[in-house]
Amino acid sequence: MKQSKTFIPTLKEVPSDAVVTSHVLMLRSGMIRPLGAGIYSFLPSGYRVVRKISQIIREEMDAIGGQEFHLPALNPREIWEETNRVEAFGDNLFHLKNRDYVLAPTHEEIITFHARKVVSSYKDLPQIWYQIQTKFRNEPRPRSGVIRGRQFLMKDSYSLDSSYENLNLSYELHDKAYRKIFDRCGLKYFVVGASSGAMGGTGSEEFMIKSEAGEDTVAYCEACGYAANVEVANSRVNPKERDSESKLVYEISTPNVKSIDELCTFLNIDESQCAKSRIYISDNKPVLVLMLGNDEVNETKLEKILGNVRPAHPDELKEITGADAGSIGPVAFNGKIIVDLRLKNSNNMFSGANKNDYHIGGIDFQRDVVNHEYHDLRIIKAGEGCPKCEKNLEVFSAIELGHIFKLGTKYSDAMGALFLDESGKEHPIVMGSYGIGVERVMACFIEQHHDEKGIKWNKLLAPFDIHLIALNMKNELIAKTAEEIYNNLKQSGFEVLFDDRIDAGAGFKFNDADLIGLPLQVIVGEKKLKENKVEVKNRQTNERVDVELSSLIEYLVRSKE
Ligand code: ATP
Ligand code: MG
Repeated sequence: MKQSKTFIPTLKEVPSDAVVTSHVLMLRSGMIRPLGAGIYSFLPSGYRVVRKISQIIREEMDAIGGQEFHLPALNPREIWEETNRVEAFGDNLFHLKNRDYVLAPTHEEIITFHARKVVSSYKDLPQIWYQIQTKFRNEPRPRSGVIRGRQFLMKDSYSLDSSYENLNLSYELHDKAYRKIFDRCGLKYFVVGASSGAMGGTGSEEFMIKSEAGEDTVAYCEACGYAANVEVANSRVNPKERDSESKLVYEISTPNVKSIDELCTFLNIDESQCAKSRIYISDNKPVLVLMLGNDEVNETKLEKILGNVRPAHPDELKEITGADAGSIGPVAFNGKIIVDLRLKNSNNMFSGANKNDYHIGGIDFQRDVVNHEYHDLRIIKAGEGCPKCEKNLEVFSAIELGHIFKLGTKYSDAMGALFLDESGKEHPIVMGSYGIGVERVMACFIEQHHDEKGIKWNKLLAPFDIHLIALNMKNELIAKTAEEIYNNLKQSGFEVLFDDRIDAGAGFKFNDADLIGLPLQVIVGEKKLKENKVEVKNRQTNERVDVELSSLIEYLVRSKE
């Protein structure tokens, strides 16, 4: 393609609203333009990359027996009501003014709708159905370019099976396909155990890249490879040891003492002697959650035990406990109490007295706290022990490329998608759901492959194979030679971007080429042409070599392999 006739509007300056590297480089290299918050248009060179990633995904999905669908983005709302997910998605779901319709944020319901109609017997199973299609989510803070769009392209696939054993096989197939996809895309990724969130289900893993721009936080053990989203991560931490003697409970006046740190200073004690209280509302009832010292509550872990919860509002606390935040505690608390494992059976602890400006000491959980149960509820911290080996955990930000879920029968139960087994007995279809964000893969590749000048595409994702740069199109020999090279390269099957712009100077062209970042640049300039040579620059290494004109095609064909 001739650059003089192609719309690749590169930018010299960094756009002011872009902070994440991939966002900056996609704007600057002329691949995308914003249309609104979290809404992007893909321009021709950007869309070429989208198509290449989609094709890699398509090939690997076909290789595991996937069948490509194209489902509507416009969905009757009543189908979403069948699984209660209009409520579960809340403000994240785009409703139309015509309240009968929603814009689909994912397609479990629609797949289940079709499965309900067409699958009747175990003989119809297994199935893997997939599509590469636009999704809509009203993301509250879209700020990382296409990494978090309000409209984005997702490969979503769904497995339909007759048993959990068979679901495991479909899940394994997807796991393998995902590894191939991300390997072919040239991404350095890792896989973490994850929470299933609003999707429901029995098991799930996320494919992640390490990145400062990430909104997920993961725990990772370099030594044994343990990796988990902090939402579900565990660590090796010491429990509070039980003192040999339990003191009696006693009340202490603690004026204006609210936080654990203030309590420690006031009483000259260690935070490991304190039980911190948090009140949550679950099923319209209050639940008191107790943590050791300054440990934080992991709400994902809590929701695994209680279902949906929310923190109690400050004005609810007094009514529930008789005190405000900072003075709440387990003794004589009227309601369910859930205690973190680190506090198991501890004694001689300090906590709030359910009376403003008072605390209680000498608390023995076995003796003084009624109606409680123990669970792992902590948010783990960097440097804590790995749960799988003797080493310690790192904690860092990451971006999720893809997610695989074992859904089980959540959707088939809710929507009545049933099949008959060999003996004619009816069962719900056992389902899995598997997503990859196509534009997010593209942005993540750029996060991992760039330098200060621009992007460094690999051969498979690059919008074009070769950037042919004629340094001075006003020079007849350069123009003629470049044109010949262009035609020869095209004939040899290369996708070529030919910088044939007449008025652009050499420096400008070099900067644009490094910014756009095609794997190879073929530079046609006066000096080298005198020796019948051109320069070939490898954008990965930024190395340049002189190549004889007569062997150029052969050289480039070889470097493509
Ligand atoms: P996140 O936690 O980042 O919001 P998610 O858990 O909501 O992701 P899924 O519902 O599992 O994501 O969607 C499957 C894939 O779709 C994700 O792994 C991600 O690659 C992509 N994706 C999800 N939300 C967006 C978005 N707003 N913009 C671009 N891609 C997205
Ligand atoms: Mg999301």
